[in-house]
Amino acid sequence: MALSRGAVLFFKLLACLLCLFDLSHGKKQFTLKNLPPLRKASSYPTGCRATYDYIVIGGGTAGCPLAATLSLKYKVLLLERGGSPYGNRNVSYMENFHIGLMNMAPDSPAQAFISTDGVINARARVLGGGTCINAGFYSRASSSFIQEVGWDEDLVNKSFPWVEEKIVQWPKIAPWQAALRDGLLQAGVAPFNGYTYDHVSGTKVGGTIFDETGYRHTAADLLAAGDPNNLRVLLHASVHRIVFDSRQGHLKPRAIGVQFTDENGRHHHAFLNNNKDSEIIVSAGAIGTPQLLLLSGIGPKNHLKSHNIPVVLHNKYVGKGMADNPMNSIFIPTRSPPRQSLIETVGITEEGVFIEASSGFGQSSESVHCHHGIMSAESRAQKIGQLSTIPPKQRTLEAAQKYAQNKLNLPKEVFHGGFILEKIDGPLSTGHLVLTDTDVQNNPAVTFNYFSHPQDLNRCVYGIKTIERILKTNRFSELSADGTGFSMERVLNMSVQANVNLIPKHTNDTESLEQFCKDTVITIWHYHGGCHVGKVVDQHYRVLGVSGLRVVDGSIFSRSPGTNPQATVMMMGRYMGVKILRERLGRAAGV
Ligand code: FAD
Repeated sequence: MALSRGAVLFFKLLACLLCLFDLSHGKKQFTLKNLPPLRKASSYPTGCRATYDYIVIGGGTAGCPLAATLSLKYKVLLLERGGSPYGNRNVSYMENFHIGLMNMAPDSPAQAFISTDGVINARARVLGGGTCINAGFYSRASSSFIQEVGWDEDLVNKSFPWVEEKIVQWPKIAPWQAALRDGLLQAGVAPFNGYTYDHVSGTKVGGTIFDETGYRHTAADLLAAGDPNNLRVLLHASVHRIVFDSRQGHLKPRAIGVQFTDENGRHHHAFLNNNKDSEIIVSAGAIGTPQLLLLSGIGPKNHLKSHNIPVVLHNKYVGKGMADNPMNSIFIPTRSPPRQSLIETVGITEEGVFIEASSGFGQSSESVHCHHGIMSAESRAQKIGQLSTIPPKQRTLEAAQKYAQNKLNLPKEVFHGGFILEKIDGPLSTGHLVLTDTDVQNNPAVTFNYFSHPQDLNRCVYGIKTIERILKTNRFSELSADGTGFSMERVLNMSVQANVNLIPKHTNDTESLEQFCKDTVITIWHYHGGCHVGKVVDQHYRVLGVSGLRVVDGSIFSRSPGTNPQATVMMMGRYMGVKILRERLGRAAGV
């Protein structure tokens, strides 16, 4: 008996809903056995005729969960410019956090850059993106952030646990982190909210992507939640350009493919299939995504013309609204060397200042005697009286590297201590990103204009004063050399030198906290922006003025989510994957 049209529609709808139900639930026992083969880009056959429903550019924090989710129903090609995180000790072990950041080899997982503000920074270049080089702290965005960006709360509440049950753990709290927890509470950053991923005022212990052995789990692991038969992953695949079909007859230029090079510098093309719903999704991060849009001809026309890039679409906002949350840290010399810890505890103040800590950079003998992460706050302690003696203008990446190679003779004592750091919410100060050349391997020029907004500076001063209150607590006094406490003037003095940047110092750095904030600003690597909603992308993150192209990563944010962004960026990859599938499957079912 033939079914009526209504009954067919009903069963299609039911099937669709059932499959969405399935998509929204993670596996109870997550293993990596479904990880798709991770092949080098050179394995991609020349003139390959395969086409895809989705091409995801950038296998990072957002790109991996996104590609995995889309592959559950469609053919996906994931192109990542870096290599594999698996088998790389600098990626996998917490004790090598600094060493990994310091590695400036052309194919290392962390690509260093210096913003025009004079702040040394780093961006990921490895499958798994920032989750392979970061400090591992995991904390969700606030509910006000979720509402502000207009996400479906129900789907958000399913997408966070999808990530958490696979790669997030509770830390076994380290002594330095416990001291910060107690110090924050004694200093009035209360209540204690215990162990929680939620963004709530007071003091809490958050999650971490390091397990109890210090082994790092990353966004690359999330690829194992996809369908390996539908997911093709290429490593060392640097996308140079998105290819558009701008023939007359199309209302808008349509993204149809990409040009990429492999690890040997050979050029390749990959294309979408002819389905009108197929898309290219750029998840190349807050530096990589605006850079790639510009290189592909989407951006301010005069800027594109100055680099001889054919204009596909004039949009003056590409690369605008770049922001980086300034970090200022206080170095605290302790009686005995604290055990190594990255961030586990955070104080969330009502004033929009977040207090965190790290310690114990001399923990591993490898870490002390080999290269050390000059790009990290922790490692800067070693450079007290060392790198800081180099005149600011000569503190280039090369000088930093040379210094690192010569520092094998440093006495272990300079590693005795920890940091308390403060990061401000937002921030309100913004800058921009422009191309310096047309080589995608090179960093664009990025300006963050730290503290150009007075409210950001006020919050920094509030943060330093909060750290001063923490240092005055009994809990911290006990840690000082003679047990009587710390002189704020002394720790500020040490911190001026410990926070290495290329910004000239002033004589009143320890008298004016405003000057201290400006002169000692470093990064917590939470940069974002460059492709803002309403300016470069629409509410569904489709690039305005063209079709078949979306952006899903930190470049769409106009402020950094939560105290630290990785939780929300991974969640967003999953969230957008499910949302795109729901919409496409719904259209296919005619509902
Ligand atoms: P990414 O994860 O950087 O992904 C972009 C990917 O695209 C990269 O893998 C890159 O190689 C690739 N790519 C770029 N251009 C191209 C191209 N043209 N072709 C192909 N591939 C390309 N956050 C926290 O929450 N907690 C922390 O403790 C923490 N600590 C941090 C410490 C450091 C040192 C750093 C760098 C970041 C830290 N962060 C932390 C921030 C967080 O890791 C990032 O905000 C987040 O990972 C950014 O995600 P993304 O998807 O936007 O970009």
